[in-house]
Amino acid sequence: MTLPIRPDLAGLEPYGAPQLEVAARLNVNENPYAPPNSVVDAIASAVRKAAEGLNRYPDRDFLGLRQDLATYLAAESHVDFLEPRNIWAANGSNEVMLHLHQAFGGPGRKVLSFAPTYSMYPEYARDTLTDFVTLPRREDFSIDIEAAAAAIEETQPVMVIVASPNNPTGTALPPEHVSALVEAADRVPGGCLVVIDEAYAEFRRRGVPSAATLIPEHPNLAVSRTMSKAFALAGGRLGYLVAHEPVIDALRVVRLPYHLSAVTQATARAALAHHRELQAQVDEIRAERDDTVAWLREQGYTVADSDANFALFGPFEDREKVFQGMLARGVLIRVTGPEGWLRVSIGTPQEMALFRSALLEVTA
Ligand SMILES: *Cc1c(COP(=O)(O)O)cnc(C)c1O
Repeated sequence: MTLPIRPDLAGLEPYGAPQLEVAARLNVNENPYAPPNSVVDAIASAVRKAAEGLNRYPDRDFLGLRQDLATYLAAESHVDFLEPRNIWAANGSNEVMLHLHQAFGGPGRKVLSFAPTYSMYPEYARDTLTDFVTLPRREDFSIDIEAAAAAIEETQPVMVIVASPNNPTGTALPPEHVSALVEAADRVPGGCLVVIDEAYAEFRRRGVPSAATLIPEHPNLAVSRTMSKAFALAGGRLGYLVAHEPVIDALRVVRLPYHLSAVTQATARAALAHHRELQAQVDEIRAERDDTVAWLREQGYTVADSDANFALFGPFEDREKVFQGMLARGVLIRVTGPEGWLRVSIGTPQEMALFRSALLEVTA
């Protein structure tokens, strides 16, 4: 039998990092701290209540959850102008990104991003038959903002997507650069949406504003967030996006009906009500990150500046060998980024001690 798979998908492997039961799982930027018992109980009782109504479809517009997300952003990022109609959510920010591509991408349309960056971006483009174009970052992984504006003018993309802090490098985009990108996007004749992917925003250094604070001035700016990282809720699958209402309305057209289950909505709302407890360890993770970066530099490695919960370090002559040696010692890290670099997610102090001793042994 011939399977009529799309020729551009034939033979491809699905994306995904290894999921292994080892002593230190430091490869997918999860929060290493499990939710505290008080939050587990709150989620369990919210889900129990939702279960009583599972014969019905969930609230398709999830207005309660959207209000809770607006309240959270006002508290966390001083973004106090948001109404539920400015908020979108889906099963992880990965699904939010797919909705953006379904609504704004498509054949003959281009998305521009800055490499190296999140390896899922080309996949959303591929799946929606959108062209994915990248401009290389500078050697320190920052974006040359004049070159970016020129590339926007030349490429005329429908979307510019920037992860800030970026994955896998950890580098954040200064707010004036966000404005510069949005202004360049404003000059694209057919219109262009700038999407800032703030999956790691809660780990940013104090005093750095969220790009969401710029939304009132910019109708073509959207900011996506997730509960997967700082919130310690990667298993809950909840990502969201803030933007002006016409952007949200476009996403509502392409979403599947009832895409957010009643269980997901209940889980996310219970977690949001306890955001302070869930994020109690963010400061600790940040401190551990700064210690890890400093330690790696003391060992002579080059380390990208990180505003996230991971560090990209190198160079290694044979990074695959280092990765395997670490894994043999129970430390799972990630082979990603430019040739020669490795990425480590920030774990508990015990996990990072294991990381340091394994790296010393492997490179001895
Ligand atoms: C982890 C990550 C996400 C989050 O994905 P979810 O689907 O919300 O779990 C989004 N963007 C980037 C750059 C990430 O690294």
